[in-house]
Amino acid sequence: MSAERLAIDGGRPVRDRMLPYGHQIIDDTDIAAVSDVLRSDWLTTGPAVAAFEHAFAKSCGARFAVAVSSGTAALHIATLAAGVGPEHEVIVPALTFVASANCARYVGADPVFADVRDDTLSADPARVAECISARTRAIVAVDYSGQPADLDELLALTRSAGAVLIEDAAHSVGAVYRGRRVGGVADLTAFSLHPVKQMTAGEGGVVTTNDEALAGRLRLLRSHGIASAAADREHASTHHYEMVVLGYNYRLTDIQSALALSQLRRLPGWLERRSAIAAQYTAAFESVDAVRPLTTLPDRRSAWHIYPVRLRLERLRAGRDDVYRALRAENIGVNVHFIPVPWHPYYQQFGHRRGGWPVAETAYEQLLTLPLWPGMTDDDVDDVIFAVTKVCRAYRAVD
Ligand SMILES: *Cc1c(COP(=O)(O)O)cnc(C)c1O
Repeated sequence: MSAERLAIDGGRPVRDRMLPYGHQIIDDTDIAAVSDVLRSDWLTTGPAVAAFEHAFAKSCGARFAVAVSSGTAALHIATLAAGVGPEHEVIVPALTFVASANCARYVGADPVFADVRDDTLSADPARVAECISARTRAIVAVDYSGQPADLDELLALTRSAGAVLIEDAAHSVGAVYRGRRVGGVADLTAFSLHPVKQMTAGEGGVVTTNDEALAGRLRLLRSHGIASAAADREHASTHHYEMVVLGYNYRLTDIQSALALSQLRRLPGWLERRSAIAAQYTAAFESVDAVRPLTTLPDRRSAWHIYPVRLRLERLRAGRDDVYRALRAENIGVNVHFIPVPWHPYYQQFGHRRGGWPVAETAYEQLLTLPLWPGMTDDDVDDVIFAVTKVCRAYRAVD
């Protein structure tokens, strides 16, 4: 067993079938909830949307929740509601999914990329402070991997810049920051309901806020900028409506909302399981010196969307991509989160050049995301630990 041949070199893989890095869990209560909506009168803009919004707002301690068609739509209308326009800059961490920055471009604003903290890979407030200019209108805080970013420090910077804090909480539904639940902390918080996230609506998103005026703007923007809902017009027997801002059709259907509400009920148990798996990984990798988990800070509780590790490449005679391919060959569905956003060809055309974000760029070369989702069995977890150990041992640098 000790000198076992890697699957990539023709050995037997650790698993017979690929273990994905994330996967949704759908049960009969989800299917029943969706079926009930399909048999009802309202497939969209009906009671399931409001029921989901109410429960979601309550679950994260926010006054208002506005459900939309994706996490990307959530970021877009949050950016618009924050008053961001072509004359503005939006500060975004360099290490995130492209949607965190694209929301600035949708409204014609320029993203300014800030480097991240080496220990958590969320925005470094000191680097964010250096990015602030007279044009700064919003800061996007990304809760990388599910651990809340430094929200108090970023809120303080936002206030002194006269800007708005938009939290991209696509990774962090159910996370807690200094005793406050994510969703009730930033001015606007955007969540994703994509199947790879902790709970799903197929596709979907939510924006939460404690500000009633912002909530009103979000509702307008979600539905064509029209100042009354079709259901309300129906009840009031009036055909009259007025479009007051340029909005979109970013609505979440009742079908999706019923699924999301059903999923929300099981979220607490899923978060516990995610956290337990993460703890098993962290404990196991203490004895694998080529693997370095991220730091978890004591004043916040991660929602563990993903479990990224950094490889100590100086202890390996292989690069991250070699380890990635070797683990895929063992049928461990590893992934990489993320390519630095300013490296993408689209952003390169705006003059962003490599080398400007040394922490994010170094991390990217070392990062590997291991499978983590609540449906994983203890055997699945053991397979991941075994495969990572096997590959790191085979690629250990000889000294
Ligand atoms: C998933 C994700 C999004 C986008 O969410 P969608 O629902 O897929 O549109 C935005 N930001 C981050 C950091 C994400 O991981």
